[in-house]
Amino acid sequence: MALTLTCPICGKRNGYEFRYGGEEKGPRPEEAGMTPESWCDYVHMNECKTGVQEEWWFHRDGCGSWFKTFRDTTTNLEQEG
Ligand SMILES: [Zn+2]
Repeated sequence: MALTLTCPICGKRNGYEFRYGGEEKGPRPEEAGMTPESWCDYVHMNECKTGVQEEWWFHRDGCGSWFKTFRDTTTNLEQEG
């Protein structure tokens, strides 16, 4: 399924112009009490939702912006937040 994403600066563009940046995971964990295992979990473990998830994308072949958007992983269609 063709992916189309909406860059906040450039508008709707072909998905080939973008680089996937990963799932939105919320705020970075506090350093106090952090262990190497908890940091590794935050960086590398993903929820891999079936359905709509919030994600980071980079407009690699465009304006160079990072932005977040919602995508349905079952249809590959961008969704309203
Ligand atoms: Zn852009």
